[in-house]
Amino acid sequence: LRNVLNVITRTDKTSSYENRQSYIEENESLQEMTKHHRKPKSKGGSDAPENISIVPKKKHAYFHALFGTKSPQQIADYLTNVWIDSSFKIIAIKK
Ligand SMILES: [Zn+2]
Repeated sequence: LRNVLNVITRTDKTSSYENRQSYIEENESLQEMTKHHRKPKSKGGSDAPENISIVPKKKHAYFHALFGTKSPQQIADYLTNVWIDSSFKIIAIKK
C-alpha cells in the first residue's frame, strides 16, 4: 500500500487527471467497490455471503451493461457467439 500511495503522490505532482484515473482503474484495490449478486435477486438470488461478490463499481456497471441479468448459459452463449475466438465454445455447467 505504501508503494501504491507513493506512486499516486508522485503521479499527482507530475501527471494529468486522466493519467491518475487510468492508474486507479488499472488497480482494482484503489477503486470504489460495490456488491454484486451472483444470482440476481430478480431471479431469486439471496443476500447470503456465497451469493455476493465485492467488485469494482465501474466493472460492475460494465458487467450489467453487457449481460444484464442473463443466466450463466446465456452469458456463455453470448461470449461464444459474439466476443471470443470463433474456434472456441464456452459452456456453463451447474456445480
Ligand atoms: Zn450486479
